Amino acid sequence: MAAAPPLRRTDSARGEFSPLKHFVVAKKTISDVFEQLLHYVKETSEFVEDISGNKALENITTQDQKEQIKGYTDKLAVIKEVLARRHMKVAFFGRTSNGKSTVINAMLRDRVLPSGIGHTTNCFLSVEGTDDDKAYLKTDGSDEKKSVKTVNQLAHALLMDESLDAGCLVRVFWPKTKCALLRDDLVLVDSPGTDVTLQLDSWIDKFCLDADVFVLVANSESTLMNTEKHFFHKVNERLSKPNIFILNNRWDASANEPEYMEDVRKQHTDRCVNFLVDELKVLDRDKAPNHIFFVSAKEVLNSRMQRAQGMPETGGALAEGFQERLKEFQCFERRFEECISQSAVKTKFEQHTIRAKQITEQVKSIMDAIHIEAAEKRVAALEDREYQMDRLEFVKNQLNLLVDEVKKKIKAISEDVESKVSTAMGEEICRLHLIVDEFHSDFHPSPQVLKIYKSELLAHVEEGMGKNLAFRCSNAVNASVQSTQEYMIESMLPLLPSSTQSQVSMLMNSRKFDMSYDLNCATLCSDFQEDIEFKFSLGWKALVHRFLGSANAERALRLVDQNFQTPRPALPQTQTPSSSAPPTTVAVPNEQTALMTQEDLVVAIASLNSRTSMGILVVGGVVWRTVGWRLIALSASLYGLLYLYERLTWTTKAKERALKRQFVDYASDKMQLMVSLTSANCSKQVQQEMATTFARLCQQVDQTQKELEAEIRQLTAKIDQLESIQSRSKSLRHKATDLEKQLEEFNKQYLQPEQ
Ligand code: GDP
Repeated sequence: MAAAPPLRRTDSARGEFSPLKHFVVAKKTISDVFEQLLHYVKETSEFVEDISGNKALENITTQDQKEQIKGYTDKLAVIKEVLARRHMKVAFFGRTSNGKSTVINAMLRDRVLPSGIGHTTNCFLSVEGTDDDKAYLKTDGSDEKKSVKTVNQLAHALLMDESLDAGCLVRVFWPKTKCALLRDDLVLVDSPGTDVTLQLDSWIDKFCLDADVFVLVANSESTLMNTEKHFFHKVNERLSKPNIFILNNRWDASANEPEYMEDVRKQHTDRCVNFLVDELKVLDRDKAPNHIFFVSAKEVLNSRMQRAQGMPETGGALAEGFQERLKEFQCFERRFEECISQSAVKTKFEQHTIRAKQITEQVKSIMDAIHIEAAEKRVAALEDREYQMDRLEFVKNQLNLLVDEVKKKIKAISEDVESKVSTAMGEEICRLHLIVDEFHSDFHPSPQVLKIYKSELLAHVEEGMGKNLAFRCSNAVNASVQSTQEYMIESMLPLLPSSTQSQVSMLMNSRKFDMSYDLNCATLCSDFQEDIEFKFSLGWKALVHRFLGSANAERALRLVDQNFQTPRPALPQTQTPSSSAPPTTVAVPNEQTALMTQEDLVVAIASLNSRTSMGILVVGGVVWRTVGWRLIALSASLYGLLYLYERLTWTTKAKERALKRQFVDYASDKMQLMVSLTSANCSKQVQQEMATTFARLCQQVDQTQKELEAEIRQLTAKIDQLESIQSRSKSLRHKATDLEKQLEEFNKQYLQPEQ
């Protein structure tokens, strides 16, 4: 802001630069500062409101701070209004007809107030400028603008208005265009005359407390009266060191007696100095004469009116010494203007400036507190974010490591389970006969009983195998599954937030794994067909079996069946179209049979027959020659006895045993084929179980990662907000400093006493 130009040392003549401008410029300057200050405090108020409205940034501002700033906004708005209405006020006192109205008119260079109407009005009259181009007046308690065209009209209005009480105020608004003095925020107050009232105290309260200068208009033709003195004593009691000027008016009358003029002047001066210095004690003795003037307001007014009308100002009958008196009046005007502008600036603006400084200081300290709080919170949020980022990084890395490790573990354990189950199953198949032997149920060769017997046998085998396998493998497998799961949980738990750790741990540990072997014996052995017909061990079929081996014997016998259409007992079918047994593996012998040509078989039988015949002939010849027919008969009877024996021992029990044996052979073969499938199935179960556990844990870790990422995002947003609060509070603090500088500058320029 540009500094106000030095105004005090200029000439007071109107039209030139007036000392009153000092007040005008000061008022503008301080009003500008207050305008900025109000804007600034509103800005800080909004800022604080914003922060306290933000839930994420709680505790950065307090309710007190918010209310404090809000209070300042209201206070500043009031002060700003008050400042706008601030003006300089000069009050004229003195006895009636001493020339108060004439002095005011002379200063205004126009007949604004009626003079010479003496006691006829008891009202105070204030004259202030208006931007309107027509004069008007307002009476106490009314906003009505009463138009006043001439001074006579005003006098008439005052005289005729019966509603005007004694001691009321009539405000005369005079166009600023007509009077330069009024442009500079000066209000002149004319009083009814100190001799007309006893209500001095109420006058002082109503009209004098905000007056910057008091002018005592005395009559130089008489001495200072006690009524006048009394009034100023009262003023002095209420105000500290009021600015008082004494105008000894009507000094033109002294021109009639020039020989006494100096003495009279000295006499008046001494009395006035005594009054100001000794009685009122408002001035030092050396400065008091500067507040005492000998003037003729009437002459000054007349000459100025003449001049305004373009006539020579000395025109008309002017008494001797007019120029000196005019100069003295001008001197009074200049000193008065200097004094009132200095004093008014101080009294009207000093307190407000101090208040403004206090407010600025307070707001600045609030901004500092917010800045510090935001900085602390930002550091905490940065640390927190750093920690969360580290944690996220750790969780990610750890998870990657664990994924590889757990995969390997799962693979190893699955392979282990597979081999364990495979071995156990192999062993159990070898021991299948024990399980079958343990089976006891009603047995009878009839097909219905046999059907039930076989299905019960299958159930027994299924149960027994399952139990045995479980006994051999389950504990070990379950233990290793559990330990791997525990390892997974233990490794993964530290990656989860501590609040969910126990919950997840409980959830995971509550899972129970039980391996199912799923042997499915019923389907596997559904095609089992027993052969419990009696067969003599030395019968020809048995002998064929013995000599050709079982495979060739089967083929040979089937061929014989086909060729001779001899009925034969049903053989167990070797092919099982069961889903559990791969058809390719089981179908091989049949295919081989089918592929074998008929010639091959004929050759086989021929070779058999030729070998047998040869054998019989040779053996018969040898035996015949050595033992004779007796032995043959013995052998035949032995053969017959053996047949009889075997035929008699082929009981139901023997049939059951034969069935069990056949079943063991059949089921063992079938189960052998299922070993790899079952063990792979078990391994898959284990693998699936552990993969599920691991996937669930991974899901929890993923959730944790997401939560961490969300938290990091939130913290980043919070840090950004805190940074912006920091920079905002800092810039608002700088603004406060700038305003403080302006206030300091104002203080230095307008409020510091001159050196
Ligand atoms: P107020 O009652 O104090 O306001 O006095 P006025 O201004 O009404 O003046 C009273 C009378 O004194 C008027 O007739 C003025 O013309 C006259 N008067 C005022 N000042 C002077 C002056 O300086 N010299 C002379 N001779 N008469 C004056």
